[in-house]
Amino acid sequence: MKAQRALQPQSLLRLSDLPVPDPGTGTLLVKVLACGVCRTDLHLVDGELASCRYPVTPGHEIVGRVVASGGRFAAGTRVGIPWLGWTCGECEYCLRGRENLCERARFTGCHIDGGYAEYALADERFCLPIPERYGDAEAAPLLCAGLIGFRSYLKCHDAKKLGLYGFGAAAHLLAQVARAEGRVVYAFTRKGDVEGQKFALSCGAHWAGDSESPPPEPLDAAIIFAPAGSLVPAALKNTRRGGRVICGGIHMSDIPSFPYAWLWGEREIVSVANLTRADGERFMALAGRIALHSAVKRYPLEKANEALGDLRAGRFTGAAVLIP
Ligand SMILES: [Zn+2]
Ligand SMILES: [Zn+2]
Repeated sequence: MKAQRALQPQSLLRLSDLPVPDPGTGTLLVKVLACGVCRTDLHLVDGELASCRYPVTPGHEIVGRVVASGGRFAAGTRVGIPWLGWTCGECEYCLRGRENLCERARFTGCHIDGGYAEYALADERFCLPIPERYGDAEAAPLLCAGLIGFRSYLKCHDAKKLGLYGFGAAAHLLAQVARAEGRVVYAFTRKGDVEGQKFALSCGAHWAGDSESPPPEPLDAAIIFAPAGSLVPAALKNTRRGGRVICGGIHMSDIPSFPYAWLWGEREIVSVANLTRADGERFMALAGRIALHSAVKRYPLEKANEALGDLRAGRFTGAAVLIP
């Protein structure tokens, strides 16, 4: 089978020819129908994720068709394979419903070969059903952008005025969820990204502007999806007393120092790591109820490096998806 491999940090992916993997007990073999390109894949290619193994096949937003069944999903079923690929099930975190923090967790496309390939293996206990209403490519971004975005969103509690910093794959889905639940979304993009701001408004944002300019009203909460640490104090400054700034990314540049007064007034800064299976089930059920418009740009598997380059340069709106 064809697979795009990260052989070592800081090098382009290499298109390789590998044997189709053999499923064991409880393992699903899926034919990959579509695989989303996530910013985490860029961090992996850049060598910014310390725990990843190389060589590895990236890709953790996999929509696939079951070829060999493990038991839970019948052959022919369409399933989703997300970032969380395996947890120990016995540590303090796993036992208390916080398996996203398991220190022995293994992640798809990081410790386990992922979906930048024609076939992938997955532990069926961590696979998710895909709502019927989405096409293969449209469903792919739900599996990380949607899902981990949703975990960030849950940390906003009842915030009414919600800021989203970095309007990419995650924010474009989350803005629609927030709007459907009666919240008011303020979208912040790179300075001068008029195209991105227009896109945000089309996804239901009430206001869109540069991340350096203040919103028309103070925010109740802000979620930061862009990997720029300077956005943390920027968002904090725009957040009212008692408000929260949630960092939704796996990697971020250093956060510059800022006056304590911006944090004072019981403001909070929190981070979100990974997902639990319960998050996955809950978000997929929600995506089945609300018709989310998932904006995707398709690339053939052979053009994975081009897709990553376009993501880095912000050359498309929404999400990139590889089609093997
Ligand atoms: Zn554990
Ligand atoms: Zn991701």
